[in-house]
Amino acid sequence: MTESKGAMSPPVHLPCPYDLNAVPAPDCGVCAALDKQRQEARERGRLAEAAIAGVEITNHPHKGRRRTS
Ligand SMILES: [Zn+2]
Repeated sequence: MTESKGAMSPPVHLPCPYDLNAVPAPDCGVCAALDKQRQEARERGRLAEAAIAGVEITNHPHKGRRRTS
């Protein structure tokens, strides 16, 4: 008989501090590269890398942010 006392793993529910859906700035090459990197990371199941790329997109500074109207 196996005791599963304390061996139960509760469902991992992360609040997701990362912005996986960060939208890259349209005119920014860095954001575009990060977006591509994030997509590739996601396809390979490397969610941590994808999340980091998303954060970098979110935090990438842009002056004179353009809006498409
Ligand atoms: Zn950017």
